[in-house]
Amino acid sequence: MTVRPRDDVALMDGYHSPQLEVAVRLNTNEAPEPPPDEFVDQYIAAIHSISWNRYPDRSAIALRSALGDLHGYSADQIFVANGSNEVIQTLLLAFGGAGRTVGVWEPTYALHSHIARLTGTRVAEGERSIDFEIKIDEVERVLYEQKPSIIFLCTPNNPTGLADKPESIQAVIDLAVRNNALLVVDEAYGQFADHTALDLVSEDLPLVVTRTFSKTWSMAAARLGYLVGPKWVVEELNKVVLPYHLDSLKQLAGLIAVRFVDEMEARVSRLVDDRERLVSRLQTLPVTVWPSQANFVLFRPETADGAFVWRELVERSVLVRNCSSWPRLAGCLRVTIGTPDENDLFLTALEEILA
Ligand SMILES: *Cc1c(COP(=O)(O)O)cnc(C)c1O
Repeated sequence: MTVRPRDDVALMDGYHSPQLEVAVRLNTNEAPEPPPDEFVDQYIAAIHSISWNRYPDRSAIALRSALGDLHGYSADQIFVANGSNEVIQTLLLAFGGAGRTVGVWEPTYALHSHIARLTGTRVAEGERSIDFEIKIDEVERVLYEQKPSIIFLCTPNNPTGLADKPESIQAVIDLAVRNNALLVVDEAYGQFADHTALDLVSEDLPLVVTRTFSKTWSMAAARLGYLVGPKWVVEELNKVVLPYHLDSLKQLAGLIAVRFVDEMEARVSRLVDDRERLVSRLQTLPVTVWPSQANFVLFRPETADGAFVWRELVERSVLVRNCSSWPRLAGCLRVTIGTPDENDLFLTALEEILA
């Protein structure tokens, strides 16, 4: 018997984000604080209203309306799924797939190209500048030479932390229009940044913006993400997503979560303050630090090998993301902003290692 997966799947590596038992976990950009107790109380009370014998509301209309209200769009301009990764997968199923190409500019979020490959979409890799900025002539080159049907920007970008400038995003939108490509702006860290592409979404542009509850909303456990985009995109996504993909519990969790937008914004602004404190202490050390608009910071030790520093941090029970062997990121580590205590434990450990 010879049962084989698809040839391309057989050759693939799975997606890995190694976890270790440590005291200070600063490796996956999770929020250090949970959502408010009041959210949990309201959620538990609301669970009694679920009709367990029935399928969930397939159109998730209450949740989509609430998210639309949050951003000033209508429910039919919102698509919700199990994490923004499923949003991305659904986009690729509808606008990518066999015979089609996706454009990404590296270094960027690895899952854009990984999920593209899973859906049989060819990946055209462009480059960012040496400072990790998007270069318009390079975007134009990839669009012209590779003819992608879908292109990704990630802003603020994971793993660099840099946000693309508003004028760069506008220039990429113009190029997407001229080249019949759908531009996906991944704003998983959007609320940490000082600008957003959300306001640019309109029925006349091939632009969607994705957001997630995993980071800013402190709800990684819920697996909930969404996009804001033109109705004509959302309609195509609804065709390819599995029926009843969003369970009733999750729809309720999202609906109740958005009642606590002020608390979310307060947590975000505390993290931004803590990020600036962490960055200024990093700047006193022999490391290169990139300016971040997210809840993590990319840095490169200049007097010691990145992988060595990562291991020494683990020895001190501090886990950060080891990017040191990733293409274009030689020697780099990425640290998530944790609680002030966690950040201090990280900084003290790093100071000790680099002393
Ligand atoms: C964390 C992250 C996501 C979130 O994915 P979910 O599936 O919503 O948890 C999406 N995009 C980027 C760039 C991320 O870093």
